[in-house]
Parts: sequence; structure tokens; C-alpha cells
Amino acid sequence: MKQNNYNIAVFAGDGIGPEIIKEALKILKIIAEKKKLNLQLHEGLAGGCAYDRFGVPLPDASLELALQSDAVLLGAVGGPQWESLDYKVRPERALLALREKLGIFANLRPVVVFEELLEASPLKKNIVQGIDIMIVRELTGDVYFGKPRGVKKGKDGKRYGVNTMVYSEDEIRRIAVRAFEIARTRKKNLLSVDKANVLECTELWRNVVTEVGQNYPDITLKHMYVDNCAMQLIRNPAQFDVIVTSNLFGDILSDEAAMLTGSIGMLPSASLGEKKALYEPIHGSAPDIAGKNIANPLATILSAALMLRYSFSMQPEAELIEKAVAETLKEGFRTQDIHQPGTKLISTEAMGDAVAKNVRNLLN
Ligand code: NAD
Repeated sequence: MKQNNYNIAVFAGDGIGPEIIKEALKILKIIAEKKKLNLQLHEGLAGGCAYDRFGVPLPDASLELALQSDAVLLGAVGGPQWESLDYKVRPERALLALREKLGIFANLRPVVVFEELLEASPLKKNIVQGIDIMIVRELTGDVYFGKPRGVKKGKDGKRYGVNTMVYSEDEIRRIAVRAFEIARTRKKNLLSVDKANVLECTELWRNVVTEVGQNYPDITLKHMYVDNCAMQLIRNPAQFDVIVTSNLFGDILSDEAAMLTGSIGMLPSASLGEKKALYEPIHGSAPDIAGKNIANPLATILSAALMLRYSFSMQPEAELIEKAVAETLKEGFRTQDIHQPGTKLISTEAMGDAVAKNVRNLLN
């Protein structure tokens, strides 16, 4: 990546994907123009739209595009019209293939409650006020990939379901390093979540994270059992800064944490490898509202902000986008999913325009 030269592969995908990606690109183009960045946006097909055209969810040309790029920005894939297809060609396979080929091993989900959306949380205002959590979930190991696995018949003639929880110390070290580095850019607190009291695999997790921590004396490392963490996320979520955890626990805890904000259309994500990264909103393609210009584009816009932060080290620009989003909410603008009496209901496009206006104001 040459100085000020950034190649981004853009896959809008299916359903609301093209509508929300359009708004995120609007914001990136303004930043690029004002900051004189050479932002090359290369659009490609992935998901159901690629299947319709080429018979596969991730054509070779799209994979090549992703591999040649510095980062990937994705809308969402999938929809009911592709649900009866064979698993191998389902739109969602495009995402799995992209993650694998890009060598992605860390999923980052920031969980931030915007002051203006406190009422949208299912929890009481005083509990969610001010929360700013970063969940770092390991993506390549654990029971999802461990062997042996399957359902087998035992000698007693009964069926046994088996999955294997397995982590190598290298896999743990890799995600721990990433989590410590992230903690360094925040409030310098890292919580590692495991079940070391009963699972040897996660006892190794705890030991390796502790070893890595010796290289980060500036970070306060704590450990918590996953059952307690699930409870604390509801009881007192404001206590958390960065949480690092394994694939299975992270899958569950990140969805629980997402609900603290009460609005799926607001939450971005980053999936990082050693060199490559993929950015996307956490929600799906929302086929029920696709094509109506009513989807919330903010999760995608915030995903673009994460791209600037984690792939291009553009922390001030990332913060600027986040501030512009907060400002837009403060002005009372809302898409239908976060609309409440007394706020101004606007379309996907108008929300993109409102954020764009605030980005311009903040840049001036
Ligand atoms: P979904 O996230 O698409 O939608 C769930 C609900 O949230 C729907 O009512 C939808 O209208 C609403 N919603 C989602 N995003 C929104 C937004 N930005 N603004 C306003 N409302 C929004 O989940 P689903 O309905 O279970 O799945 C639909 C399709 O998306 C399926 O084919 C599924 O496989 C796919 N999917 C894709 C991804 C991905 O691409 N990463 C993730 C999850 C689901």
C-alpha cells in the first residue's frame, strides 16, 4: 500500500446491501476528496447476485479482487430466493470463502450506545448509558472446527453427538496479541473470557493470554468465566472495555452485547487477518425491506470508519465519521428501525446525506 493510496474491494451483495453500501461510499468519497487520498473503489459481485450471474456465490474474479485489495467492504448477502440452493452455492458461502482466503482470524464488534438512542435498548437507560465495549472474538478454532466431530452410533447402539474444543497455543497467542494492541488504542483494560475452571482447553487459553500480557505492562489484564461475563453484560455493561474470547463464547457474548444497543441497524464489524481485513454491518440483507429506501445505513457507514481505523491507521478520520453519525442522531434524524415519536423519520439516502453534511462540516 503506497502512501495515501488505498485499494478497496466493495461487495454490495444482496437485499438492502446496494442501498446501504451506496451511502457508505458517499462518506468515504468525501473523506478521500478532502484529505487528498487516492481511494480506489473496485466494485464486485458476491452472494446471491453473483450466483444469478455466474452460478457461484464468489466468482474467481471477485476473490482475486479481494486478494488484491487492501481491505474489503461488504453490504450483506443472502435472501429467500436462494434458500433452496445446495449449501455449496448458497450466498453465505461467499462470506465464509472470503474469510478463509483472506486469512481472517479476529472478529471485532464494537458495542456503543449513542446517547440519543438510549431508549432503544431493552435495558434501563442508567445501565446502558456510556457503554463502549469492543468484543474481540477468535474466528478460526474451537468446537466449530475441532475433530473428531459428528453424530455416531456407540457400542450400546445409541447415538452420540461429538464436537471437540481445541486451540493451539499459537492460535491463542495470535488473537491475544491483537486484543492487547486494540486495548492499547482504548482505555487499556483487557478482559479475557474463558471457562478455565472446567475446560482444560480454556485453561490453556488463560495461561497463554497471561503470558502474552507480560509484554504489555501498560494494559490491565483480567480474567472472567463466561457464565459470569454473560451475567455482567446485563448487570453492569459499563464495566467493560475490551473483551477477548474464543470462537464459541464470542459468538454468544457478541450477540448478547449487540442487543444492549437495541438496534441491529447501528452495529458495524471488522474481521481482521494478518494483512487483510473485511468490514461489514452485523445485520443481514433484510429482504423484507429491500429496495424501499428505508434501511438504516449507519452500521455500514460505521464499518467504513472501522476500515479507516484498522486497515489504514486513520484514527482521526474514523473518529470524525463516528462523530458525524452522533451529530446526525442529535439532530433528530432517524430511519424507521430507530424512529421514535418526536424524531424525524427519513430515508436511507437522506440519512447518508445528513451524515455526509456533518462529515463536511467537521472537515472544514
Ligand atoms: P437480517 O439482519 O437481515 O434482518 C433481521 C431484521 O432486522 C429484519 O426485520 C430486517 O428488516 C431488520 N434489519 C436488518 N438490518 C437492518 C437495517 N440496516 N435497517 C433497518 N432494519 C434492518 O436477518 P435475517 O432476516 O435473519 O436474514 C436475512 C438474510 O440475510 C438471510 O438470507 C440471511 O442468511 C442473511 N444474512 C446475511 C448476513 C451477512 O451478509 N453477513 C448476516 C446475517 C444474515
